[in-house]
Amino acid sequence: MTLEESTGSHERRPDTGTVIELRAVRRTFDTDPPVHALREVDLTVRRGEHLSIVGPSGSGKSTLLNILGLLDRPDDGDYWLDGVPTTELGDLERTSLRGSRIGFVFQSFHLLPHRTIDENVMLAEMYRLPHPGRVRRNRAARARDMLDRVGLSHRLGYRPDRLSGGERQRVAIARALMSEPSLLLCDEPTGNLDTENTASVLELFDELQGQGMTLLVITHDEAVSTRAQTRVRISDGTLARESA
Ligand code: ADP
Ligand code: MG
Repeated sequence: MTLEESTGSHERRPDTGTVIELRAVRRTFDTDPPVHALREVDLTVRRGEHLSIVGPSGSGKSTLLNILGLLDRPDDGDYWLDGVPTTELGDLERTSLRGSRIGFVFQSFHLLPHRTIDENVMLAEMYRLPHPGRVRRNRAARARDMLDRVGLSHRLGYRPDRLSGGERQRVAIARALMSEPSLLLCDEPTGNLDTENTASVLELFDELQGQGMTLLVITHDEAVSTRAQTRVRISDGTLARESA
């Protein structure tokens, strides 16, 4: 669905081909003077798309990520996630939607150092609300599957300190995949990695996209940004799509 077709409608049917749709989203911080962190932002992310958002410090990247991750609300405008109109939801519903639809990947991997990587991936579920009606296979088996999916089968039982930075980020990605999210929301995922480890994570992003995952990657690294099929630049709270 294009923005034109959907203008003004809050009751349209969910479009299963669209994971993220932001329309005229504004976020202003009430400082003196006020900061217009996001100005009338429109953004559509299709299912299976790999989209990067690149912009300098202070341009609004974290503000946008917090809204996309349902950690913050727009002051104005609408946000549909997987066709669900999130701006109308209460906090509990938003938390549940976040847990079931979004996998977060951060610059720091946030792995527990004294646990094996298998345990780190399994522990993802300790912090999530249960999915009603979904039958879950054994957590350990699924954690192994996720580690296999990120290419770490040969590291089962290892502690994070025995892995390279790129491998650690792969573990964090496996952990994010445990909830079978619709979307991986990545904030500077290669910010702590050297060129070689960055390449390894970017390869994994390509593989995941090949499996149908939707990836939104916030970065200030042009090499990371150009790897995405769609590139969006953010500057002073305004988005501009770059031609592919
Ligand atoms: P980026 O992540 O691109 O560095 P941010 O989204 O963190 O940018 O910030 C965008 C603008 O909003 C900046 O001018 C920042 O100072 C301001 N800002 C962010 N969060 C707050 C807040 N909680 N209160 C006041 N101003 C904020
Ligand atoms: Mg930031």
